[in-house]
Amino acid sequence: MAASIIALFNQSGGVGKTTLTMNVGYHLAKLGREVLLIDDDPQGSLTVFMGLEPNQLTKTLYNAVVKEEEIEIIRDIFGMNLVPSNISLSTAEAELVGAMMGELRLKQALEDIKEDYDFILIDCPPSLGILSIMSLVAATHVLVPIQTEFKALKGTELLLTTIYKTLKVANKKLKIAGFIPTMYSGRTIQAENSLKAIHEQLSNVATIFSAIPRTTDFANASQTKKPLALYNPKHPAIKLLQEIAKKLDGIHGK
Ligand code: ADP
Ligand code: MG
Repeated sequence: MAASIIALFNQSGGVGKTTLTMNVGYHLAKLGREVLLIDDDPQGSLTVFMGLEPNQLTKTLYNAVVKEEEIEIIRDIFGMNLVPSNISLSTAEAELVGAMMGELRLKQALEDIKEDYDFILIDCPPSLGILSIMSLVAATHVLVPIQTEFKALKGTELLLTTIYKTLKVANKKLKIAGFIPTMYSGRTIQAENSLKAIHEQLSNVATIFSAIPRTTDFANASQTKKPLALYNPKHPAIKLLQEIAKKLDGIHGK
């Protein structure tokens, strides 16, 4: 069975896309699944979180999508595999817009390897440009982290419009796997209201996962280049990450 290809998508930065890509990927791998992570952000945060030095890499996602070379995969980091990125990807935006079927380049690059994996998770950049679009075109599912704060829902309409447009013209099979409320500061009224608003406005669109709490251990874990489960195995958020992994495992092939 070909991989479920899941784009972690939200045009806002700092909502937890990269953190979730790595941590959910880790728990999918723990379930025994073959997992590939793709760093689709020129900032290379996922590449850094996974313990690599982006500027020392000569072959990255850029080579696959712009140069159309064979995709470069770094094997077995915490049981996962990685297509890294670095700043070279920032010029891809301009190069792909003018290129023949630029939006299809990631889909094309994954064509030959998608049978080798159960899950391919794509960490999208904080923009609605062609790098995000090519992820949505390549994906079978989109997963949307949303920060539980006052203006959380502000960008949601634009985000959904982009997903629906992709669905209509470029990827009719794309499914919304769900929304993940992130950085939830449990006891504040503002966070509570924000979580309530997310449920009210989005529960008819797709599944809303349990909120991931705001905790500095996520930042600490990525500083030490580890998944949360290896940095602090007793952290209560691990149960939530496992829950997300299990749910995604349940939609595999559906
Ligand atoms: P994005 O990829 O959407 O830009 P990141 O995953 O890079 O977001 O997260 C942005 C910053 O917030 C990082 O420093 C990360 O360590 C931190 N972070 C992520 N998730 C949480 C959380 N649940 N609580 C607190 N900090 C978090
Ligand atoms: Mg990121």
